[in-house]
Parts: sequence; C-alpha cells; structure tokens
Amino acid sequence: MSYYPASIQSLIKNISKLPGIGEKTAERLALHILRGSRQDAELLANSILNIKNTVRFCSRCFALSDGELCSLCSDPARDPAFLCVVEQPADMIAVEKSGAFRGMYHILSGALSPMNGVGPEDIRIRELVGRIEKDQVKEVVLATSTNVEGEATASYIARILEKYHIKITRIASGVPMGGDLKYVDQVTLKRALETRHAL
Ligand SMILES: [Zn+2]
Repeated sequence: MSYYPASIQSLIKNISKLPGIGEKTAERLALHILRGSRQDAELLANSILNIKNTVRFCSRCFALSDGELCSLCSDPARDPAFLCVVEQPADMIAVEKSGAFRGMYHILSGALSPMNGVGPEDIRIRELVGRIEKDQVKEVVLATSTNVEGEATASYIARILEKYHIKITRIASGVPMGGDLKYVDQVTLKRALETRHAL
C-alpha cells in the first residue's frame, strides 16, 4: 500500500473501514474508481454525501426517509389498522419484500436488553403507545426477532398494550422452507409445533 501516492493510500484506508472489506478488496475498489470515469466517481462521492445530508427518520414510523414522512406512511393504499412492530429498518424491508403485509410499521430502533442497559425508555415504545392512542389501530403484529431480546421486547409490548383492547399477534417462527427437520434446532421446532395450523 505504501507504494501508492498518499491520495490513493487515503482512499484505500477509508474504503477498508467499511464492514467486510479487507485491505486487498479496498485496494481493488480504489483502483477501479481511479480507472473509471470522473462522472462515476462524482456520482459515488455525491450519493455518499447525499445520504448524510438528506436521510432522517420518518416522524411517524421511524423508518429511514428522505422527507418528514417516509414513502410508506404517505401511501394511501396502506391499511393503518394494521401495525407491524419491528426492531430495525432492515427488518421492515425484509417484511416488505415478503409482500405479505399491507399495513403500516413502527420501528423500535432496538430491542430490550437489560444486560446491555437497554430499557423501555431507550427504544421507541412511548411513540408506539402514542400511535395506538391516536390512530385507529385494530391489530399490532409483533415482528421483533426470535432471540431472547426480541422475545422479551414482544412480551413487554404485549403487556403494555393489554389495556387498549386491540388484537396483538406475534409472528410465527418455524421451520425454514426447504429445511430438513433434523437440522432445525429444538427451540425453533418447539415453536413451530406450538404455532401449527390446520390444513
Ligand atoms: Zn414512516
């Protein structure tokens, strides 16, 4: 790396800070940018700066957004009676990709984790309760992770929302499609049996 001029060294160093990128890959990417057109380099540099300048949290669901409200919250075709609660923006995108949900979302920006000092005040539970009180929500789907923190977060929210007399559901976790039963862990298999449905 020291054979390169300082400007290229600096680019390699900055690219290698990205997750999953080692120095070799960073070197290859830097040289690729150098060989490419000036226009491509500008597009890349500007789009990086642009996300830092324009992306913020949607004021309603806390998804990543370019404006006050995200595209989903401003979509009149979505059903506000159904609210899907997830931990992170990436989880919302995963649910969206499944195409199985036509309601709105609420992104907690984390999960309860007493071990790491994350309590109810540190994630967006108060904002969720505010939406339940204000909007005409009929069902809350708790789609937090199926790990210990996600389960604890789901039961905490279910308890907090009890008094609103709305339907509260938890995503079923089970055997992956195409999955071989003997490779599925016990907890997953137990949950899959508990949440079985009639055919
Ligand atoms: Zn939104």
